[in-house]
Amino acid sequence: MYVNKKENTMKCLSEDILELYLDGEMLRTAADVVYQHLSICESCRNRRDKLVSFQERITRIFKSESLIHEAERVVASPITDMPTSEQITEWLESDMCPATDGCIVEHDGICSHGYVSWLKYLGLV
Ligand SMILES: [Zn+2]
Ligand SMILES: [Zn+2]
Repeated sequence: MYVNKKENTMKCLSEDILELYLDGEMLRTAADVVYQHLSICESCRNRRDKLVSFQERITRIFKSESLIHEAERVVASPITDMPTSEQITEWLESDMCPATDGCIVEHDGICSHGYVSWLKYLGLV
């Protein structure tokens, strides 16, 4: 990367460079140049912020997927009472259904605490 002593004449950062910078895979000297450019250039700062939130979103998706896998491995035992057949019929007619801890989830859903929906627990979906 070409290092210009006059920072304000430096070209704007490419997407690749911003990604390298955010991943921390950049040489220290190059990272300093990026850092300096970001401190004077608002448009690159905005692009960096967009990249950051994109990367965070990806990380979150990966995290929640591994949570679901975790939950599927161990189906927690119910902590609410067995539903009546009336309740079950009601749930089957709606889109949502309580998980076995009382959270509202989709028919084949698992709540964030790792409890499956009653319909799934009972093998109805
Ligand atoms: Zn710039
Ligand atoms: Zn829950």
